[in-house]
This record gives sequence, structure tokens and C-alpha cells, in this order.
Amino acid sequence: MLVRVQACGVCHTDLHYREGAINDEFPFLLGHEASGKVEAVGPDVTNVAPGDFVVLAWRAPCGQCRSCLRGRPWYCFDSRNASQKMTLEDGTPLSAAIGIGAFAEVCLVAAGQAVKVDPAARPEAAGLVGCGIMAGYGAIMNTARVERGDTVAVFGCGLVGACKVIAVDVDQRKLELARQFGATDLVDSSQVNPVSAIRELTGGFGADVTVEAVGRPEVMKQAFHARDHAGTMIQSGVPNPKMRVDLGMLDFYGRGGALRPSWYGDCLPTRDFPILIDLYLRGRYDLDRFVSETIALDQVEEAFAKMQRNEVLRSVVVFPDA
Ligand SMILES: [Zn+2]
Ligand SMILES: [Zn+2]
Repeated sequence: MLVRVQACGVCHTDLHYREGAINDEFPFLLGHEASGKVEAVGPDVTNVAPGDFVVLAWRAPCGQCRSCLRGRPWYCFDSRNASQKMTLEDGTPLSAAIGIGAFAEVCLVAAGQAVKVDPAARPEAAGLVGCGIMAGYGAIMNTARVERGDTVAVFGCGLVGACKVIAVDVDQRKLELARQFGATDLVDSSQVNPVSAIRELTGGFGADVTVEAVGRPEVMKQAFHARDHAGTMIQSGVPNPKMRVDLGMLDFYGRGGALRPSWYGDCLPTRDFPILIDLYLRGRYDLDRFVSETIALDQVEEAFAKMQRNEVLRSVVVFPDA
């Protein structure tokens, strides 16, 4: 199917592709956090029709692998992408970032990659549901399954809704944003030992759930040790292939609990995207505040620089003619 892209967020993963940190299959067509209108569909497409407002997903469960057949499509091993490649005008095939490639007016994806949502949503906010928002929300709701009364510590500021939410970051601006989004306590880990700080804030115990949302070994160790006994550590930050973690095996055994990776928030896009859009439209989840700025397609390079300087939560490319 073809999607007329209306908005596409600039995500860290795009930057990783650009720097060759994912693979070296240049040239890439970046952009994967997008919303837009279905422009045309192939003859076998039944889930969407031209004119539908959709959010693009980089997980499109196949329905036939052993994980899908066991009723766990969020672990699908054969997620579907468009088999036909988009190209440059001279015919050079492009590698689409995470199988999407939405820094373009029109994007070609497999039908299963498009999830129909309420068209009342602002496109620049809705697109974020396709990657960053889903990964953060899913880490808490799907992977950690945070419950009423849990204490949660997030390393690298995300967002949540539990009884005590401790935000840990090295950047004051991110901490202030976390406070605005509902964090009850802030820990500046450039100034204090975050493990001791979290213990102090939780009666000496540690948090029920800690989330590593950065993707660095030293942060993962902090999140590991900042747990209460039998607490859960969620890894949602994306590490690079060279990173290693050295943990005391007795610490791992003796503390109990669980260490769980959260890949794309263990989401099922067809289930979770419409829920997030509904929460947004009912004012329960203020996605607009994640849109730091809207930019034109030729300003993506500047947006990468701002991202690296921690100046934005999200720059979002908008396509005025869409
Ligand atoms: Zn992303
Ligand atoms: Zn599957």
C-alpha cells in the first residue's frame, strides 16, 4: 500500500542508521515514526482503504510463525515489510529504516504495517505512537505490567503512572520535563549515586520496577542494583553490539525478580495504537507535549544535531501538502 505521509518524527534509531551503527546497506531512506493517509492499496489488501488515517508500525505479525500461532504475535519472528523496494529516481534501491522509510511524501509499506486510528488525532502527535511512545508505554504496561502501588524508577526519562515515579537522568532539562509529565521524584545521576538515591526515596528498599531507557552498560547496572528484592528490571534502551555487562552472579541469583528486555514495548500495534490514540484524544495522554518542533523535510540534519545536544524531545517532519 502507498501512504501519503503527513508527519514523521526524527528518532534516535534514524541517527544510528545514518552513522552506520545498524548496518552498512546505504543508501537508507530514514524515517519510521509516521502517520498519514492511505493513498492506494493493492488488490489483496483488506485491512485499510484509501483515505484511512493510519499510524505505521515496524512490527506487522505474520500470523503463521510459531510465536504467532501460540498467540504471542508481539514476538513474531517474521514481521512483514514491503517486498518491493523504494528507489532513487535513477533506480538505486533504498534500504528503508526499520522497513518503513517515511522521510518521503509517499511511502510504500506492507498493508500489515499500517494501523487505522481515529482521524481526529493530530498527525504529528499520532506518528509518535509508531515508535517512541509505543516503546515507552509498552515497556511499562506490556513488559513490566506495573500495578497500582508499585514504585518505578526510570533511567533516561520516560513516563509512567504508578504511585512513586522516580526519574533519573544526567540532563536537568530532561528531568524538568519528567516532572511536568508526572515524575514524583528527580535524581540527577551526574551529581549523586542513583542507586543510593533511589534506596533513600523508597524507604531503603529500592524500586519495584526499574527501567533502563538509555542503552548503556553502566546504566543497566544501576537499574539492576536499584531494584527492591524480587524487583523487575526492564531494558528498553537500545545497546550497540559491542556492549557487555559484568554482573555478580550471586547478585543476580540472590536478588530474585526478573530482568526483561522490552523490544518495541512488546506491543501488538493493531491492539495498542488505537488505545494510545484514544487515551490521547480523551486528554489522558498528552502526546502533543512530545512534539518539540515541527520541521520541513530538509531540516532533518539540524534535527539530528538538536537531538544530540538534548534540546528536543521530538522534532517532527510535517508535509504541508498531505
Ligand atoms: Zn524509532
Ligand atoms: Zn509471526
